[in-house]
Amino acid sequence: MTETIKEVTVEKGLCVSCGICAGACPVRCISFQKREGQYLPVIDNSKCIQCGVCADVCPSSVHGENYSEYARTNQCEWTEEEYLWGSQKGCFSAYCKDSKVRNNAVSGGIVTTMVSRLLSDGAYDAAFIVGENSYEAQVETRKYTVDMSMAGTAKSRYVPVSHAETIYYMRKHPKEKLIITGTSCAVHGILRAVDRFQLNRSNYLLLGLFCDRCERDSIVDYFKNMRPERKVTGFYFRTKEQGSWPGNVKIEYEGGKNQFLPAEKRMRVKEVFQLKRCLYCLDKLNQFADISFGDDYVNRERSLAVNGRSLVILRTKAGKEAFQMIQNDIVSEPVSLEEIKKSQGIEKREKNCAYAVIARDELGTQWYPFLKQEVSEERKKEYMRACETLEMGRNYPDSAGQIRKRNAEKERKLFFRKLLAKIKG
Ligand SMILES: Cc1cc2nc3c(=O)[nH]c(=O)nc-3n(C[C@H](O)[C@H](O)[C@H](O)COP(=O)(O)OP(=O)(O)OC[C@H]3O[C@@H](n4cnc5c(N)ncnc54)[C@H](O)[C@@H]3O)c2cc1C
Ligand code: SF4
Ligand code: SF4
Ligand code: SF4
Repeated sequence: MTETIKEVTVEKGLCVSCGICAGACPVRCISFQKREGQYLPVIDNSKCIQCGVCADVCPSSVHGENYSEYARTNQCEWTEEEYLWGSQKGCFSAYCKDSKVRNNAVSGGIVTTMVSRLLSDGAYDAAFIVGENSYEAQVETRKYTVDMSMAGTAKSRYVPVSHAETIYYMRKHPKEKLIITGTSCAVHGILRAVDRFQLNRSNYLLLGLFCDRCERDSIVDYFKNMRPERKVTGFYFRTKEQGSWPGNVKIEYEGGKNQFLPAEKRMRVKEVFQLKRCLYCLDKLNQFADISFGDDYVNRERSLAVNGRSLVILRTKAGKEAFQMIQNDIVSEPVSLEEIKKSQGIEKREKNCAYAVIARDELGTQWYPFLKQEVSEERKKEYMRACETLEMGRNYPDSAGQIRKRNAEKERKLFFRKLLAKIKG
C-alpha cells in the first residue's frame, strides 16, 4: 500500500506543520487540526487517492533529509564535509538604512528590505511571507504583491508556519517568479515539491531563516493564559518597541493595553514547547536557500549600536544577484563563515547529530546517511530527558477548549511549577 504522511511522519511525531503536503495533494484532501499543541494534518480518507505525493514532498518523512538531492535540485555545490553549514558565495553583516524598517524588523530588516525592493523593481511577481500576528488560527504564508503594505509582515514567528498556499500557487502558476521565506525544513520541503512537480527552480528566490528550533503553537496559549480574562489581539515573540535588539515579548490586549515581558520568560519554556523534529535537525544555517539570514551575534555591541543587524549568507547565483540589487538600501560589510559558525554555536549541533542517529533506529528513519558516529551513553540519557521534557509541551492544554477561562492562570502556574521541578530534578 502507498504510504502517506500519516504513517511516515505524523504517527512518528515528526510533523513540523509546514503545510507542504496539503499544498501538494492533488485532491486537496489534507486539512489541519490543532492537537498536541500544534496544527497537525488530517487526511480525508473518503477523498484520498493513495498517490503518495504527500509523503514524497514532506521534509520530515522517514525518507526525508536527502541533502544530495536538495543540492541537485538547487544546482549548487555541496559536500558531505559541509553538512552543518553548507556552501557559500559570500557572508555579510548588514542592516537596512531606513531606521523605521529596521526598528520594526527582528534583526537588521534585510529580509523586509529585499522583498520590498525586488517587488518594486519587478524582479519577482509576488512574495509569500507571513502577515499574521494574532495566532488565532494556524499561521500561514500569504501572497504579497508590490501594491500591498508590508506593515505587519516583519519579525520572526517562532511557531510553525504553513506553506500550503505557497505550494498550491507554485503548482497553479508555474511561470510566476516568487520570493518565499522559510525555515530550513520548509526550504527542504519546497525543494522536494520543486523536484516532484518538475517546477523551474530558478523561478523561486528562497530566503531562508536560520533556525535553532520551532515552538508548538501552544507556547502562545501559555502566554495568552497570563491574563485569561483579557482578549489578546496580537502576540510578538520579539519586538524592539520597549528596549532594543534582540527585543522582548509583547502581548497586545483588546482595548489597546500592551504587556511587555523580558526575553528570558520565553527562553525558559523553549525546551518544553519545541517540536520533537527539531531535536534531530542539523540544518541551523538554512544551507539550501538562495540566501540565509540570522541575527548578528558576531559582535553584539555593534548590533546593539544600530538596533539590530542581520547575518547574510549568499548561497546561489540568484541569491548573490538579489543581494546586489539592495546595495543602495543597506549598509553591509563582509564577515567570515567561521565567525558565523562560532556565533551561532554550530558545534552544538553535534548533539542533534547524535539524536538523529538514535532516531534512525528508534523511528526507522533513513536520515543523514553521512552520519556514522557512535552515540555515548551520556547522550542517550540526555536524549531521553529531552523527549520527556517536550512531552510536557505536547500535553499543555489548548486554550480553545480544554482550559476553562477561570482556570487558565491556575493551569499556567501549575505547569510552570512542574517545569521548575523538572529543571531542578
Ligand atoms: C523559527 C525561527 C528560528 C530562528 N532561529 C534563529 C537562530 O537560532 N539564530 C539566528 O541568528 N536567527 C534565527 N532566526 C532568524 C531571525 O529571527 C530573523 O528571521 C533573521 O535574522 C532575519 O531578520 P530580518 O530583520 O532581516 O527579517 P525581517 O525584516 O524582520 O523579516 C522577517 C521575514 O520573515 C518572515 N517570517 C517570519 N517568521 C517566519 C516563519 N516562521 N516562516 C516563514 N517566514 C517567516 C516574515 O514574514 C518576514 O517577511 C530564526 C527565525 C525563525 C522564524
Ligand atoms: S496520498 Fe495523495 S491523495 Fe492521499 S493525502 Fe497524500 S497526496 Fe493526498
Ligand atoms: S509536509 Fe509538513 S505538515 Fe505535512 S506531514 Fe510533513 S511535516 Fe507535517
Ligand atoms: S529546527 Fe529544523 S526542524 Fe525544527 S523548525 Fe527549525 S528548521 Fe525545522
